[in-house]
Amino acid sequence: MFEKVIYIASDCRSGSTLLDLLLGNHDKITSVGELWRLEECLNNPKSHCHICMCGKSIKECPFWEKVEYMLGVPLGKIKTKCHEKLIDRRLEQVIMLLNHKLFIFCSYFLNSFKHDMECAVNMFRLYDAISKVNKTPFIVDSSKVAYYFRLLYLLQPEKVKIIFLYRDGRGVTYSKMREEGMKLEEAAKGWVKSNRMMEIMKLGIPKNKIFTIKYEDLCKQPSKVLEKICHFIGIGFQKKMTRLDKCGKHIIGGNPMKFKKEDDRIILDESWKYSMTEKDLKIFEQIAGKINKKIGYWD
Ligand SMILES: [Zn+2]
Repeated sequence: MFEKVIYIASDCRSGSTLLDLLLGNHDKITSVGELWRLEECLNNPKSHCHICMCGKSIKECPFWEKVEYMLGVPLGKIKTKCHEKLIDRRLEQVIMLLNHKLFIFCSYFLNSFKHDMECAVNMFRLYDAISKVNKTPFIVDSSKVAYYFRLLYLLQPEKVKIIFLYRDGRGVTYSKMREEGMKLEEAAKGWVKSNRMMEIMKLGIPKNKIFTIKYEDLCKQPSKVLEKICHFIGIGFQKKMTRLDKCGKHIIGGNPMKFKKEDDRIILDESWKYSMTEKDLKIFEQIAGKINKKIGYWD
């Protein structure tokens, strides 16, 4: 029976797929990747995420077929992607911070609120179905986006726990430049925006609902960090959690490293330290230095 969703909130390229995979090794947890992308994965064959981690398309994956059967509705008809109208989104964010009941009230007659509320309801329906298929009480959702965890919390606060996953902004920025061809300024600004949004969206959520970890600590001391996360979730730590096991999982979206079955070691990527020039670091400092230090990255 579904008990709780453990939602991983972070910017992209911060180690969320790694954390998702490690947590998914636990007998009581099913990790599903970026669940909010399910709608896009099923309805857009050109989307990069339409292939499940098992190698089959989501439509043909036996795991997701079972989830569909349990749900009793075609997965392709389930809305999971919140709307992206910026003005409406800002209004929703303000109201969800002010008063959850007011948000629910607005969802009866304002379309954007209604749509996003429906997505959140669907996410819980999916968690429930996944939990029944795999017989695990906990689901890990690494959707990352802060707005989604707030929506889920708004709907069923007792069923949501959130992990804030941070990575040195210089590492995230360099990774975005290298892997996604982004410009330094754009990558650093995106990281700042994502971190600010996480801070805003957590306002008013009790501290015992949020656990904070750093990507670097996870890579250096996986046992120690995972033990603490298990304590936070309320389950016993299992040694097998520290293995980067990529078999038998059906994760949506996330980092393409999930497909590289031969890479089974946890390796800390700090290539930014020798790849970013002094000029790069200076530009980063101007854009994001303050917030990077606030998170705890001083040197
Ligand atoms: Zn699959």
